[in-house]
Amino acid sequence: MTVRVPRAKKLPLSNSGALSLFPVGCGSAFSKKLYQNNFLIVKGDDHCMVDCGTRTPEALFRLGRPVTEIDNWLITHSHADHIGGLEEVMLMNRYVARRKPTAIIGAAYQEVLWNASLKGGNEPNEVHDGVGLQFGDFWRIRRPTWLSGYPRETTHIVLGSIDIKTVRTRHYPEQASDWTDSAYSIGLILDDRILFTGDTQFDLDLLTGYDELFGFEFIFHDVQFMKGGIHASLDELCTLPASLKSRILLMHYPDSADDHRSRVKAEGFAGFVRQGAFYVFD
Ligand SMILES: [Zn+2]
Ligand SMILES: [Zn+2]
Repeated sequence: MTVRVPRAKKLPLSNSGALSLFPVGCGSAFSKKLYQNNFLIVKGDDHCMVDCGTRTPEALFRLGRPVTEIDNWLITHSHADHIGGLEEVMLMNRYVARRKPTAIIGAAYQEVLWNASLKGGNEPNEVHDGVGLQFGDFWRIRRPTWLSGYPRETTHIVLGSIDIKTVRTRHYPEQASDWTDSAYSIGLILDDRILFTGDTQFDLDLLTGYDELFGFEFIFHDVQFMKGGIHASLDELCTLPASLKSRILLMHYPDSADDHRSRVKAEGFAGFVRQGAFYVFD
């Protein structure tokens, strides 16, 4: 893995073919120093934004990429730091760029995302034959397929050169005992090499179960510094075996991360993810 800060004024949406991840933001939901934890995946001529929080359109704009230049979007769950910018994506594409970006989304979560979050600001903008706009009026929809034989609900989609598997996580409510009684939230497995946990509570079964199958090169894992709540705490992550910690890059961290930098180093983690750099896996 190499870490490269792009020099171009416009954030590159293609490369020579290496799988690469670019944190447009790597901060927690309420970070004021960083943008929210939303990543761009780039490989060859293919790209995909993972999540679009309330501040993501601004973050992309500062990187020279208005939201209308992003072709593919994959949403991990319905917290506002992951979906709060979608209304801008939808309205800007429909009324300014006059195009449909692609949403990679399962049918069940599409219903949840639309009915519980996106419908209010989007449906009433047009009425045709008494019917307002629907999700499919804004998006070209691509459905992942279900994979059997995995430890938990796992789906698969091939986006050009990028192979993406999605894995259900235990994020919220806090009291959820495992992924089956959690609200919808997913992590990603990229090219069978990299695990991106998305938002999750500490979930040893997720890490060990899937690492046994894939032998991940690196794991992008969310972290919080308090106990309880709906993210993995640094204390919990410190209990992992050294062989896992050395491959874990911490993301989704609050503004107080610097206070914990020396401990993260001493515990043998791969470090904190850096916003605005490409993590390239040759
Ligand atoms: Zn989040
Ligand atoms: Zn969340």
